[in-house]
Amino acid sequence: MSAPEETTVDVCVVGTGFSGLGMAIRLEREGKRSYVVLEKAESVGGTWRENTYPGCACDIPSSLYSFSFAPKPNWSRMYPAQPEIQAYLEDVATRFGVRPQIRFGQEARAFTWDERSSTWLVETVQGLKVRAGAVVSGMGGLHKPAYPDLPGRDRFQGPAFHSARWDHGVELAGKRVAVIGTGASAIQFVPQIQPHVARLDLYQRTPAWIMPKGDRAMAEWEQSAFAAAPVVQELYRRAIWGLNEIRGLAFLKPERIGAGEDLARKHLESQVQDPALRAKLTPSYRMGCKRVLISNDFYPAVAQPNVCLITDRIAEITETGVRAADGTHREVDVLIYATGFKPMDVLNPARVVGRAGRVLNEEWGAHPEAYWGLTVSGFPNFFLLMGPNTGLGHNSMVFMIESQIHYVMEALALMEQRGKRALDVRPEAQAAFVADIDKKLGQTVWSTGCMSWYLADDGKNRTIWPGFTFEYRAGTRRVAEGDYVWT
Ligand code: NAP
Repeated sequence: MSAPEETTVDVCVVGTGFSGLGMAIRLEREGKRSYVVLEKAESVGGTWRENTYPGCACDIPSSLYSFSFAPKPNWSRMYPAQPEIQAYLEDVATRFGVRPQIRFGQEARAFTWDERSSTWLVETVQGLKVRAGAVVSGMGGLHKPAYPDLPGRDRFQGPAFHSARWDHGVELAGKRVAVIGTGASAIQFVPQIQPHVARLDLYQRTPAWIMPKGDRAMAEWEQSAFAAAPVVQELYRRAIWGLNEIRGLAFLKPERIGAGEDLARKHLESQVQDPALRAKLTPSYRMGCKRVLISNDFYPAVAQPNVCLITDRIAEITETGVRAADGTHREVDVLIYATGFKPMDVLNPARVVGRAGRVLNEEWGAHPEAYWGLTVSGFPNFFLLMGPNTGLGHNSMVFMIESQIHYVMEALALMEQRGKRALDVRPEAQAAFVADIDKKLGQTVWSTGCMSWYLADDGKNRTIWPGFTFEYRAGTRRVAEGDYVWT
């Protein structure tokens, strides 16, 4: 039997979503370090490859939700649909020449730190071994589908699938369909399938705050102007970013969010005439505590006669449908889970074993923590992109990702300059950072007492960055050398 393939590189990047690809492109452009990118699937794209449900689109305008170094002047709309974003990522992977370094169909299974050589051994399920001076995880937080823990979930006899694993082979036209969940994914696909299905039972546990969506086709003259003068698109990009930062003010001071709630209530009133339905769709928690959604077509779809909005708790799933807590059993042909992801479960099932055999998966449990969301004490030269407490409720994640990529490059350069082989964040620096995050979160809208996927099992918010994105960028511009142990 031949020995498994082994590759030695300076940096091993994991994932090819916006983070992994962005990291690979920076390494490629710098041209100083060897690298390899592990991708479990057969194409790039991360969450934009995985989510193909009808109506899937980003809720940040693409002129901003794209790489700063790779503007695309001809986005078709303000908020283009998933295929266009996926095509963009495919295109940048090719244009920036990173494809030869991507190992497709390689899912990282184990990361093991070797103290003697100051390297990580990365092993994949498929048997590839990579020895790397540093690891950069671009594994993302929103790719492991969460299924609700409902009795009888395995009993349903018809087709059942999760929104992030959309089964395009299942014909929905003329069928009775149950959708569980009314979050960001559901509000995008419900209006797409509603006109075609015979009946749609929509199971809502908590109504979302929904704002109007300022979507429109990009005009030809705008696309031409962006192509002819990239600075115009750069200014446009900055304007969108700046407006979003201003919006962020309301998230940081809950007493300022009332105006947003008024706007969302008016949006609901203008689109839903039936007061009983309106009442069911009206949230009772502070806006922003859960992710604020944008849509112009969700409420009108829910108001259609073939849609039944069910707010009773689900008691069980049966062979033929869903039984609500009031005892009503509704038969359906197809069941769709729009129940979100497991953001606290980024690493599993891959195991990350750092210094002295410490296992990151176990230390994190269900409440991950990291210094600037990037490094964890005891796990030298292991960098996380989109790590704990770097998610956003108000602006583009790509901006955060680019800040993080810059930080990783700074750290690698500093290590080289100092003639060191490893950097490990001091536990007290990490603890101080996390304590500061907790203190800041305490004053924000995310701490106004709602249940959301932002919260870890211990009730602490381990998802959101409680500040402006420019503050994060300023904080990650330089590596605070004193916060690390260099060996
Ligand atoms: P989500 O926002 O977590 O929504 C999940 C929905 O399922 C919620 O309505 C939740 O109700 C419901 N649910 C969960 N368990 C349930 C149960 N046992 N019984 C009944 N209902 C249950 O998930 P998502 O819509 O997939 O979105 C996840 C995140 O992905 C978003 O917040 C966003 O960050 C990202 N995303 C972005 C876009 C975009 O950019 N356009 C689109 C899709 C997703 P509760 O609210 O009561 O928990």
